[in-house]
Amino acid sequence: MENLISLVNKLQRACTALGDHGEDSALPTLWDSLPAIAVVGGQSSGKSSVLESVVGKDFLPRGSGIVTRRPLVLQLHRIDGDREYAEFMHLPRKRFTDFALVRKEIADETDRETGRSKQISSVPIHLSIFSPNVVNLTLIDLPGLTKVAVEGQSEGIVQDIENMVRAFIEKPNCIILAVSPANQDLATSDAIKISREVDPKGERTFGVLTKIDLMDKGTDAVDILEGRSYRLQFPWIGVVNRSQQDINKNVDMIAARRREREYFATTPEYKHLAHRMGSEHLGKSLSKHLESVIKSRIPGLQSLITKTIAELETELKRLGKPIANDAGGKLYTIMEICRMFDGIYKEHLDGVRPGGEKVYHVFDNQFPVAIKRLQFDKQLSMENVRKLITEADGYQPHLIAPEQGYRRLIESCLVSIRGPAEAAVDAVHGILKELVHKAINETHELKQFPTLRVEVGNAAFESLDRMRDESKKNTLKLVDMETSYLTVDFFRKLPQDVEKGGNPSHSIFDRYNDSYLRRIGTTVLAYVNMVCSTLRNSIPKSIVYCQVREAKRSLLDHFFTELGAREIKQLSKLLDEDPAVMERRTNLAKRLELYRSAQAEIDAVAWSK
Ligand code: GDP
Ligand code: MG
Repeated sequence: MENLISLVNKLQRACTALGDHGEDSALPTLWDSLPAIAVVGGQSSGKSSVLESVVGKDFLPRGSGIVTRRPLVLQLHRIDGDREYAEFMHLPRKRFTDFALVRKEIADETDRETGRSKQISSVPIHLSIFSPNVVNLTLIDLPGLTKVAVEGQSEGIVQDIENMVRAFIEKPNCIILAVSPANQDLATSDAIKISREVDPKGERTFGVLTKIDLMDKGTDAVDILEGRSYRLQFPWIGVVNRSQQDINKNVDMIAARRREREYFATTPEYKHLAHRMGSEHLGKSLSKHLESVIKSRIPGLQSLITKTIAELETELKRLGKPIANDAGGKLYTIMEICRMFDGIYKEHLDGVRPGGEKVYHVFDNQFPVAIKRLQFDKQLSMENVRKLITEADGYQPHLIAPEQGYRRLIESCLVSIRGPAEAAVDAVHGILKELVHKAINETHELKQFPTLRVEVGNAAFESLDRMRDESKKNTLKLVDMETSYLTVDFFRKLPQDVEKGGNPSHSIFDRYNDSYLRRIGTTVLAYVNMVCSTLRNSIPKSIVYCQVREAKRSLLDHFFTELGAREIKQLSKLLDEDPAVMERRTNLAKRLELYRSAQAEIDAVAWSK
């Protein structure tokens, strides 16, 4: 019993803790997983006596005739300390410490329901016994089965009792104590008859033979007790309960047990069976069986708990961390979430996550292609070259080389590079913005706070806009710089051009011949192409410097500065979590804690097997 008590205790602690907090999927409590023990048998076969000796207490009405007329559902509760008391469900808050009064109350309550007649009722009486000496268990004392109604009873009573008994013992978690008196033929035993019906293989039936002391002289129960008359899975157990005379003389349980022991030890027929006879042995066998039944449920409980813990953890993770109450805590939470976002954003740029490679595509492909498409045909058409060269001369045609003309032609070509340069800035800007979207969606913590999510997004976009403007300025400056100072070496290396191809008879507009102008055009194109290849290298550097590098460095800097100045109310607004979510998180956390402690308890039980 001691083992069973501590085993059940541990499990009980684990399970009731969870039962207290059962939401939708709480564990079954131990009461559910514990079997109930029901005693069945004919009238006066000794059922109540057997039950009493299992419990080790006198508290049931016993006697000849039909005494138990209502089912008694007896719940044993183990408590700490040394108090011992009983409570009836129909008398809440009344504690019985005198068990003689318990017996009286059972009798009175039976009469209240059935009248003083000999009627029976299927309405159970619920009695709870709280004691340090019991194990949590449900025992059921049932009215005895009869074959005929006695005077004052209705005809249907025989069938009524049988139905009631069957309803209790057909439940698969019910252990049946089938009580048969030894002084009657076992073939006529009601207990055997009905238990065989609901448990044909005898897997949950304990055969108990009472009144062995009352057998006729010259007869004995050895054939039955050795399992030859009627075989059950569990060996038969013979008992000697107190006789009516003992009860009348108030022989106590301890004395009765001693006498029972002596009876089996000294009666020659039963001597060899003495070690597995008697109420004490019955109690131990039951306890052992219960232990194995309970232990068989441990793996199921364990896997249920493990599964539930995993579910709770996933759900909690999905809900995110709880929010602090003070401004500092809130600020910290916001900063932490922002940092996570920032980290993910950087990962996109640095290639840990995808997307950053698109920037290189702009530099390697989009931008050079756009520059190549500028064919400068319009600027360097014969007509335009002639016009610009001539105009640049002014009133005095140039003497050696058309310096001003060159400058103007080059300028007019280089100006058109501004377009592709700006487009490259915008393309990179688009990519950086797209990565903000991605990083926001991938920052799990932001999902919890819709307002913060929007604000972080907006702040990032604003920063990117600022960086784009700065980048555009710098990039265009690079283009403009090329027009402001030309590479002298390029021109010095050109062959000196003395012959201008002029013809004084021509009008002022065609004072230079075509081949001369074509050469100028070719020279300008060569120069412009040289500049383009320089810019193809320097513009990406400028863009990376102003936009990509800056985005990595200071995407949320403005937001942080501004955040520091916010009041707690505004911070709370940013962390405007749904109150239902907060409550759910608290509940989940509480349950998780309970399940974890239950897991520890049950693991301890499982390992101590
Ligand atoms: P129930 O009607 O099946 O609950 O039977 P009880 O437990 O009330 O017992 C009926 C009567 O038989 C009582 O007077 C008991 O004292 C008596 N009795 C029960 N078991 C034994 C036993 O093993 N030996 C003797 N001598 N009397 C018993
Ligand atoms: Mg009885």
